[in-house]
Amino acid sequence: MNTNNRIGYQQGHSGTQTYQAINPSTQEVLPGDFVAATEQEVNQAVELAYDAWKTYRNTTGAQKAVFLRTIADEIEALDQELINRASQESGLPTGRITGERGRTCNQLRLFAKLVEAGHWVDAVIDPAMPDRKPLPRVDIRRMLQAMGPVVVFTASNFPLAFSTAGGDTASALAAGCPVIVKSHPSHPGTNALVSEAILQAAKKCGMPEGIYSSVQDIGYGVGTQLVQHPKVKAVAFTGSLRGGMALHKAAMNREEPIPVFAEMGSINPVFLMPEQLKENAAQTAAQMAGSVTLGVGQFCTNPGLTVAMADDHTHAFLSELEKAIQAAQPATMLNEGIFKNFEQGKEKLFAESGVEPAGIQEVTGTDWKGFPAVAKTTAQNFLNKPKLHEEIFGPLTLVVLCNNYEEMKAVAAVLQGQLTATIMGPEDKLAKWEALMNTLREKVGRLIFNGLPTGVEVGYAMQHGGPFPATTDSRFTSVGTDAIKRFARPIAFQNCPDQLLPAELRVDNPLGISRTVNGEIGKH
Ligand code: NAP
Repeated sequence: MNTNNRIGYQQGHSGTQTYQAINPSTQEVLPGDFVAATEQEVNQAVELAYDAWKTYRNTTGAQKAVFLRTIADEIEALDQELINRASQESGLPTGRITGERGRTCNQLRLFAKLVEAGHWVDAVIDPAMPDRKPLPRVDIRRMLQAMGPVVVFTASNFPLAFSTAGGDTASALAAGCPVIVKSHPSHPGTNALVSEAILQAAKKCGMPEGIYSSVQDIGYGVGTQLVQHPKVKAVAFTGSLRGGMALHKAAMNREEPIPVFAEMGSINPVFLMPEQLKENAAQTAAQMAGSVTLGVGQFCTNPGLTVAMADDHTHAFLSELEKAIQAAQPATMLNEGIFKNFEQGKEKLFAESGVEPAGIQEVTGTDWKGFPAVAKTTAQNFLNKPKLHEEIFGPLTLVVLCNNYEEMKAVAAVLQGQLTATIMGPEDKLAKWEALMNTLREKVGRLIFNGLPTGVEVGYAMQHGGPFPATTDSRFTSVGTDAIKRFARPIAFQNCPDQLLPAELRVDNPLGISRTVNGEIGKH
């Protein structure tokens, strides 16, 4: 296991501070003394990335596609070594990690397909009209181009798919941006293995040194230095509201502010229509319990809030939910910090007046297991206490009982920005809830009907983002192909000679991509 920082194609090991990974299932120290990066090494990584950008930004879509596919192949070649280490470092079962590796590699291959096709640059052309009266029109051609070095803060809850070679790295490399990864201290060994795979792929594909670096740290020094470095041009982050906002502020306080695309907290409300529970109370309770406890509730799309009418059908639903939650197996959480945050969050919630347990498991043992819980409260109590609107990261949902539709809409109206909201009810009755739907549209990035928020499809249409505090910029997604747009900015060329234009904008459209010419979309 390579425990050094990876500064381009070189090793960084001049730091004196080292740290180890802990297996959350056994609380044992795992092999490997990981060296924290020095200030000089961080600077060197950024300088190399900046130099690499000058050539990499001109790399063709076809070349980038080969690079992204080679990364996926190299990750797969790590085989069981990667699966075992990621499982040991995260406490997640090997089956889940194997699935996540598939998602990671599919994601890389999807971005390869995207850049190979080339349309993502969103080429828009208004050709010159020299004879236009009263004034001639100039020739304007616009497209997206890579912004420069991107810093990626890897997430604790997806050691592969939102980490070293996850969606942020894949989309930044696809856009034409070199990447510097700030390794998550919970899974440094997984980061080391995947970093090696990326660097092997970069060498095989003849990529410039600095296209990828990975720096490690236990603490905030390295991350803050990266965000403040003048040659870093964008940041991607998945984690806590506190962490995301600290990095956002640091980026705003730079001489040249840069975007921080932070995906932070969300309670993903699920609104259960009375007709839903009238017909399917038991089935809905089983579905909800499955979603709440999936991955020990450690998903950004975990349904932390359930909203229903205070009627007999909801009581039947609650009693089934309680049984299902009590029967669910508690499982190890990702690290000690996340486990402690969950326990404290639960304790504070149950200490609030008007909040009652509706299904909890007695916490036993001293290991870092998340014991699932359901709490209930009234809509009035929820409306009066903004504390109850905050995320508790783990297997828990707060059920809010409403006396009527007006209260349900009021609950929706006080919510902060969310990644998702869900409405469950028979399809032929949903039209009755249109006003609720319209309120929720203002709050979320993804509105789900008769499904559950956990499980985020990686595709062309996915929106995984939402108004603050779900993310720092609701215009973008961090999952799916549109994630690439976070790392590209529009540039327009006015009256530029054809031979100097990027291929995407030339008159004869040599790449054969779809473009908007005079307002018409086509391959012209
Ligand atoms: P975190 O505390 O936000 O840390 C994520 C990364 O950001 C780590 O590499 C961390 O570095 C760095 N970081 C955090 N605060 C920073 C600061 N002020 N300055 C510079 N760097 C900073 O997230 P976590 O450790 O993964 O989990 C903690 C909590 O975050 C969870 O309990 C949960 O509430 C939330 N979380 C949310 C999501 C989501 O999807 N929304 C996902 C995961 C976690 P160091 O660790 O080296 O200090």
